[in-house]
Amino acid sequence: MLLWIVLGIAGAITAYVVIGVWSDRRVALPPAATPELPAPGPQPVAPPAPAPAPILRGDTAATAVPVPAAWREKLSAGKCGCGQPLAIASDEALRYDGRLMVVVRLACAACGHARSVYLAPAEA
Ligand SMILES: [Zn+2]
Repeated sequence: MLLWIVLGIAGAITAYVVIGVWSDRRVALPPAATPELPAPGPQPVAPPAPAPAPILRGDTAATAVPVPAAWREKLSAGKCGCGQPLAIASDEALRYDGRLMVVVRLACAACGHARSVYLAPAEA
């Protein structure tokens, strides 16, 4: 009698496993999610994706900074990266896309750094 109980249990387990494997193959369940264990040691730091070069306001005619018509009196050239004040070296008026623009050349007397800023003065 005990033998039959043992065989019955074994048979039930076998049937359970066989049915499980069979249904697994038929239904093609997604693989069981394995818990993601943290990798030992310091986590590898993914290199940051190369960011597109930021388009700074005033760097191009398309991003010209709107300024009042009397921009000359209001313009503050700002400071150079070296900390010294930038000076307006030159300015040149031009038309871009039908709009009046001024390209102001800023230069640092201390380190020689120079950059151009496009301004879009309000037309009087
Ligand atoms: Zn400088």
